[in-house]
Amino acid sequence: MSQPAASPQQANSPLKLLRTHESPKLERIRHTTSHVLAMAVQRLFPKAQVTIGPTTDYGFYYDFDHPEPFTPEDLERIKKEMQAIIKKGLPVIREEVSREEARRRIEALGEPYKLEILDSIPEGEPITIYHLGDEWWDLCAGPHVENTKEINPKAFDLLSVAGAYWRGDETKPQLQRIYGTAWETPEELKEYKRRLEEAKRRDHRKLGKELGLFIFADEVGPGLPLWTPKGTTLRWVLEDFLKQEQLKRGYLPVVTPHIARVDLFKISGHWQKYREDMFPMMAESEEARAAEQGFVMKPMNCPFHIQIYKSELRSYRDLPLRYAEFGTVYRYEQSGELGGLTRVRGFTVDDAHLFVRPDQLEEEFLKVVDLILVVFDKLKLKDFRARLSFRDPKSDKYLGSPEEWDMAENAIRRAVEKLSMPHFEGIGEAAFYGPKLDFIFRDALDREWQLGTVQVDYQNPQRFDLYYVAEDGSRQRPVMIHRAPFGSLERLIGILIEEYAGDFPFWLAPEQVRILPVSDEYLGYATQVRDQLREQGIRVHIDADSDRLPKKIRNAEKAKVPFMLIVGEKEQATGTVSVRQRHGQDLGSLTVADFLDQVQALN
Ligand SMILES: [Zn+2]
Ligand SMILES: [Zn+2]
Repeated sequence: MSQPAASPQQANSPLKLLRTHESPKLERIRHTTSHVLAMAVQRLFPKAQVTIGPTTDYGFYYDFDHPEPFTPEDLERIKKEMQAIIKKGLPVIREEVSREEARRRIEALGEPYKLEILDSIPEGEPITIYHLGDEWWDLCAGPHVENTKEINPKAFDLLSVAGAYWRGDETKPQLQRIYGTAWETPEELKEYKRRLEEAKRRDHRKLGKELGLFIFADEVGPGLPLWTPKGTTLRWVLEDFLKQEQLKRGYLPVVTPHIARVDLFKISGHWQKYREDMFPMMAESEEARAAEQGFVMKPMNCPFHIQIYKSELRSYRDLPLRYAEFGTVYRYEQSGELGGLTRVRGFTVDDAHLFVRPDQLEEEFLKVVDLILVVFDKLKLKDFRARLSFRDPKSDKYLGSPEEWDMAENAIRRAVEKLSMPHFEGIGEAAFYGPKLDFIFRDALDREWQLGTVQVDYQNPQRFDLYYVAEDGSRQRPVMIHRAPFGSLERLIGILIEEYAGDFPFWLAPEQVRILPVSDEYLGYATQVRDQLREQGIRVHIDADSDRLPKKIRNAEKAKVPFMLIVGEKEQATGTVSVRQRHGQDLGSLTVADFLDQVQALN
């Protein structure tokens, strides 16, 4: 029996769609198309004032000050006007002017936003104007195509309108932002639009609701998901898998509380460096608040695991110690940033902290990376790169000496080279207390997500004065490794829902098997079959509704259950089940024992 989940990679066509920064040609096309858009809008809506029109990953947008929102019909008219401008073959002409000349021309047009843009250009930089033919111009630095004919009139489109504020400032008037996309060929445009549709179909917020995995409640608050029995089953399966892998690798389980005294996070440095991302302090009185004698929700688990390390005298023989916890942490994300599971205010990290001797660092680091690769393999996440997230030497936000940072960064570099993984360096991406190795996963729709993380830390052992007794009796500092292969369970599940389009592989599906009795008469036999499967650890339910069979099949398809077992008179008489795989494949009739054998192989 084959794995029922369709390969996620099938969502991706061989046509490679380039991001703007990957193609100078597309950058020129997309940028110039945004000017053509502005020109078309001002032709059709003379009252509209132009502001800015930058490129995006796969297109561009332009913000207009216009009294009424643009309608879908407006977008159609604007698009036609743009095609007319493109076909005219207008030359794009660069003109360098003095600041005074630019001001004079902008004032003549009555465009206040352009004046602000002019004023924001630093003194001494050249001021350039780009003309589209002799009818329209904009203040801009480029780059552009040389003639509008270089834009393919069949390879661009306008996608949507949204409200936006001038320079993101909510006190300023609201602008109308028109989003568009532009490509070299109509085929690329078509493929891009297909992917947009596919992304909508796979959206985990939509699918999560349809599959009944999690909910949000106003009364609970934004960014705080509630997990239903199905969604929680999914979490348990993921947790159990990782717990087993960790046990094999000598991890030790710990559990720690959700809140702690502010003092704990002062020692770790979170209070000083990370406070705006934490929930506000709980204090018993105003005096206590003023003295910062209160409790906070934990933004990270590390300081708790450190306390467990510190609770006993450790010898060099005890190390490495690897404490693991599925620890829920709380971060005060701005409410505007919340959306589904990828940004939440409370989430569970598959956290572990390794306390190692300096001579064990490299080996332990490699073992952690190996575990992450095992996890990705099990989840069938194949397309990823490792980002070496290092400090920005010009910034002062980091704790610790440059020498320690160099040591840690070099250990990460050596490990990655040893494993010959695809990787790149991300300068300025480090946490404030140490460099990291982050795994960036590219999904079926070519979008990038950050998943697992490994981090080397010399700072916390110092701040908390950790030590172990070395072979010669001296006190030595351990090094810490922070690691989380999943990253956060919430985020991972959001990504998995979209990657699998809701078709979880058998081992992960919250409901693996659904039994469909053709009528109430066979409920007794259905129950027997269910109990037999349940005893073997299969997650199985009976559809005991009074619906007719075709309706039951449709419901099971909608719930994306990997296997349906239809039971009626023939099955009851022969002790069999009629097996149907998700997406319509009929596998014929099997004894319950044979069915069990086959699905156990998928678990
Ligand atoms: Zn431009
Ligand atoms: Zn940590």
